[in-house]
Amino acid sequence: MSEPTPTLMIVTCRTAGCPNADESFTVRMYPNVEEPVWAAMCAGCDQMVQDIVPATPSA
Ligand SMILES: [Zn+2]
Repeated sequence: MSEPTPTLMIVTCRTAGCPNADESFTVRMYPNVEEPVWAAMCAGCDQMVQDIVPATPSA
């Protein structure tokens, strides 16, 4: 059994009127076993963030 490693993801809230709207946050996330694989809740509006993309570091 290997320890799950967190993945750096960029989450951006797209909720209109949210104080965090269109602001991107880089967070460490663990993939879920079931769909949705990536799920995050916005701290600004308490809505599920739809825009979650992997942060691919430029090597
Ligand atoms: Zn939000």
